[in-house]
Amino acid sequence: MASSHTAPPDDQRNGGGDPQNREDKVNILLVDDRADKLLAVETVIADLGQNLVIARSGEEALRCLLHQDFALILMDVHMPGLDGFETAALIRQRKKFEHTPIIFLTATSTHETEAYASRGYCLGAVDYLLAPVLPDVLRTKVSVFVELFKKTDQIKRQAERLREIEAEKFKRQLSETNGRLEAETKRNRFFLLSIDLLAIAGFDGYFKQLNSSWEKALGYSEEELKTRLFVELLHPLDRETAASEIEKLRTGSATHYFETRYLCRDQSYRWLGWTAAPFPEEGLLYIFARDITERRLAEEKIRSLNEQLEKRVVELTETNRAMETFTYSIAHDLRAPLRAMLGFARALLEDYGGKMDASGQEFANRIIDSAKRMDDLIQDLLSYSRLSLEEIKVGAVKLEAALDEALKQCEPQAREKEAEIRVETPLPDVWAHKGVLVQMLVHLLSNGLKFVATGVKPCLRIWTEAGDAWVRLSIQDNGIGIASEHHQRIFRVFERLHSTEQYPGTGIGLANVSKAAERMGGRVGVESQPQRGSRFWVELPRVHRS
Ligand code: ADP
Repeated sequence: MASSHTAPPDDQRNGGGDPQNREDKVNILLVDDRADKLLAVETVIADLGQNLVIARSGEEALRCLLHQDFALILMDVHMPGLDGFETAALIRQRKKFEHTPIIFLTATSTHETEAYASRGYCLGAVDYLLAPVLPDVLRTKVSVFVELFKKTDQIKRQAERLREIEAEKFKRQLSETNGRLEAETKRNRFFLLSIDLLAIAGFDGYFKQLNSSWEKALGYSEEELKTRLFVELLHPLDRETAASEIEKLRTGSATHYFETRYLCRDQSYRWLGWTAAPFPEEGLLYIFARDITERRLAEEKIRSLNEQLEKRVVELTETNRAMETFTYSIAHDLRAPLRAMLGFARALLEDYGGKMDASGQEFANRIIDSAKRMDDLIQDLLSYSRLSLEEIKVGAVKLEAALDEALKQCEPQAREKEAEIRVETPLPDVWAHKGVLVQMLVHLLSNGLKFVATGVKPCLRIWTEAGDAWVRLSIQDNGIGIASEHHQRIFRVFERLHSTEQYPGTGIGLANVSKAAERMGGRVGVESQPQRGSRFWVELPRVHRS
């Protein structure tokens, strides 16, 4: 059934009906002042099942048009107030209803019909029906316009949807293009601003694109570089390396990093570090190069300094060895004539002592003393040379046992001097050569007992401190002490701070101690001040017992 209603009051507007209805049904405006005619038409087109809106005057019809859209207007010509034509003229003035079909209905006499019809057509009427209206004709005509309206509306909606889809597509394309553009701008900025040398080159061997760092590093303009084969500027000695890398790239595998020299505009060479990736589909190489000249020069300098240093070390080692061999042979060969001097001086005293006066005997005794001292010196020199030349095998040594042995050897000297010796045990084990270690300790202990002021009883304290890898053995005495400026030199051969009359000795003992420590992978040192005693220490690698 068609629904029909009169024009809604202004406040109701065109909100009536559910959305489904509004979608399926179209509005037809029926304008007539007479209720009987309205009923007649309404009855005829009710079968079409559309929304019939009734207006009882031209004014009311205009009001309806304010709120609703209509597929068709059926309008009586004769109406009080605005007649049908006047109403149609006003309707046509509104753009929205320019083309809304209007069918005039009238019961006018035949002679007026033609004039009416032409007026109606001037106003854009699509038809003109005389009363009494033939129901079939009216129904057919109305349904044609309803269908037309529906089709037009459908086309309009499809066009709108199409436009929306197009707009959506365009928006998407625009945003994609924008994104691409932005990414490209960023990439370009990266390319332009990079301090490294970036370039794109073709498989033909020519640069296609370069950033400004090339000009800064090499001095050529971009154009100059683009017009030369890039291998042309490589150092002749580096071309082979580069050629094999480029060949690898051509076959599609990425290169390893490699370094070559590259000719600059001022004819100097700069070192460049290269990495490149091929893009075979486009026949392009993406090149990344870095100026590494400073690093290469620094490396070169270090290498040459190292070579010089190594040469110097070899020379020095040779000189040392030669010196040590020389010292050893001298010391060894010197002892034979010395022993002869000593032997003959003793024989002189024994066999001819009675025939010599006191001076003669004293001279002979002096020869013996000097020869003895010289023999002591030579013996010490020999032991120093042996320490330098001979192989010293180290192993785990019980420090406590080595110290006991050394103390035993020093016992007569200690007893004579009434010395007090305190050892703080336990002492850790060390890597050393036992015999050499004992000699070292004997020497340090005997110096501690020897270098005390007259009348002072020596007092020695011995203890160790152990680190993870080291053991430091200290021997503290209450002796005359040593000024700090002599701390280094007393470890050198023949360096003595006192005369033999004051404190006897050869001046080789500490040199032996130092050499022995060095040969066993350790070191020695002293902490001392004049009159405040000395603390000699020896550091040796520690043995960890599991
Ligand atoms: P020597 O004991 O035969 O003189 P060293 O090489 O053992 O030779 O010692 C060198 C010098 O270092 C000594 O002459 C002495 O002046 C000084 N010296 C060594 N040990 C001590 C010590 N414990 N106290 C003070 N001076 C020392």
